[in-house]
Amino acid sequence: MKLSKQLFVTLREAPADAEVASHALMLRAGFLQQVAAGIYVYAPMLWRVLQRIEGIVRDEHDRADCQEMLMPAIQPRDLWEESGRWDRYVSEGILFHFKERKGGEVCLGPTHEEVITNYVKASVQSYKQLPVTLYQIQTKFRDEIRPRFGLMRGREFIMKDAYSFDTSEEAMVESYKTMRQVYRNIFTRCGLRFTPVEADSGAIGGSGSEEFMVDADTGEDAIAVCRATGYAANLEKAKSRIPAPAACGEVLAMHKEPTPGATTCDALLEMFPELPMTRLLKTILYHVSYDVDTLAARDGVEASTVATEGVVAVMCRGDRELNETKLTNHLCALKVELASEDEVKAATGADVGYAGPIGLSADVRLFADESVNGVEGFLCGGNETDTHYLDVHFGRDLDQPETADFGTVQAGDLVVEAGTGDVPADAAIEITRGIEVGHIFQLGTKYSESMSASFLDVDQKQKPIWMGCYGIGVSRVAASAIEQNHDDAGMIWPLEIAPYACLMVQMKVGDEAQDALCQKIHDELTAAGVDVLWDERKKVRPGAKFKDADLIGIPLRIVVGRDAADDQVEWSPRVGGDDAKEVITSADAIERVVTACRDAGRR
Ligand code: ATP
Ligand code: MG
Repeated sequence: MKLSKQLFVTLREAPADAEVASHALMLRAGFLQQVAAGIYVYAPMLWRVLQRIEGIVRDEHDRADCQEMLMPAIQPRDLWEESGRWDRYVSEGILFHFKERKGGEVCLGPTHEEVITNYVKASVQSYKQLPVTLYQIQTKFRDEIRPRFGLMRGREFIMKDAYSFDTSEEAMVESYKTMRQVYRNIFTRCGLRFTPVEADSGAIGGSGSEEFMVDADTGEDAIAVCRATGYAANLEKAKSRIPAPAACGEVLAMHKEPTPGATTCDALLEMFPELPMTRLLKTILYHVSYDVDTLAARDGVEASTVATEGVVAVMCRGDRELNETKLTNHLCALKVELASEDEVKAATGADVGYAGPIGLSADVRLFADESVNGVEGFLCGGNETDTHYLDVHFGRDLDQPETADFGTVQAGDLVVEAGTGDVPADAAIEITRGIEVGHIFQLGTKYSESMSASFLDVDQKQKPIWMGCYGIGVSRVAASAIEQNHDDAGMIWPLEIAPYACLMVQMKVGDEAQDALCQKIHDELTAAGVDVLWDERKKVRPGAKFKDADLIGIPLRIVVGRDAADDQVEWSPRVGGDDAKEVITSADAIERVVTACRDAGRR
């Protein structure tokens, strides 16, 4: 392909609002154009990358006997009412939804569990038709709160979503394991360094779930990892063993103390320097919107008896933080957010900063994080402005509230298994960051039951189908490849997903020897099945060609210049700088390109 025939525009500077490298470089290289927040034109060069990623995704799915299909982007509200997800997605604000001419309501699909379950329900009758795994590569729509970082978090983006259908739980787990391997293969072939982590299942629901995280400091997700055990979990889900609280010493009677203006743990520590942080218990108030149907089903009560909203209070040790995802799951909530100032006043009778477990308004449910276990003689809010209680004991001064794991793992915590079996007693957790490029779930029968997708089993009984679902953010994969592989001069594409395998830079266009040699290299590479981009722009100086070459990051590079008459070219790969440069014959250069493509599995 000749570069002069392409629409190819690069910018000297990235627009100021591009915060991460992949976004900035893609804009500079003309790969992207923003049309609206989180909505982009994928320019031809980027489209080639996306198609290569899709090619790998297809290839690995097809090898695992998955079948490709295509579902509609527009989905009727009725289907989402059947699964019970409409209200949740609307209240989260994720769903693009609108009225139809005839009055019905539809949404632009953010995901496709409903449509596929409905399809399989109509198509599968017998155990003989199972297992099957179906997938599609399609545009998804999500009205994200903060679309940002270019392709990382779009409002319209490309996703591969797959769904497995099985006759039993064990069979579902087998399908899940197969897909886990498919995912490993895909991200390895895309040239990414990644970590599979235990994950929260979020709004999709179901049990087991793992995310595939591309290791990157700019990643939006925090991950808890333990080098000693290989444990890796999204911070939303991670568990740890936390340091024990300091012992209490002398047991004193509970008493109230004036604490004017002390609304933070730090301020309280200044007032009571002898108190260790582990003996301060904070009480945090949240406004909760409940997932009424799910909650009613869980508790076995009528949905009409369940409140839609409410305020809860959660206690937690001073040196620990609460985890809103864990809280949301435990409460069966659609969402939890910090209570407003008015709600705090109504619940505690005090200004913000003095909430505590004793004397809270009766309509506020009280919970505690596991970090309070074993804490004695603690300080807590007095539910009175400028006042705290000291020397409080659970069991003596108040009952310990319902306690569960609501805490956020911190760097330095021990892994849960520390000191058991072969695991060292000091096996600790580090916090790293990553970009979620894939997410796999065991859904169980959540959708098949709510939408009545069943099959007739060997024993002639109707049973719900066991499902799994598996997503990959195809456009996000492209962005994460650049997050991991770039330098100041530009992008560095992993060979298998690069827009072209090879860039040939011609120094002087019109020079007879160079024209002829370039044509020969171009034709031979093309005949060998290698896509080569030939920079034969006449009016562009060599310096500018090299700048563009570095920016667009095609990994293999051949420079044809002065020595063309002697059949010599410069081998000048994108990475390695001057050290990697070599003068070689054109045949050697072709051989190197073909071999590199074959070794990388670029087809
Ligand atoms: P996130 O937590 O990043 O919002 P998610 O958990 O909501 O993502 P899933 O529903 O698991 O996403 O979607 C499957 C995959 O689609 C994700 O692993 C991610 O790679 C990709 N993805 C999700 N949301 C976006 C988005 N707004 N833009 C680009 N890719 C996305
Ligand atoms: Mg996810």
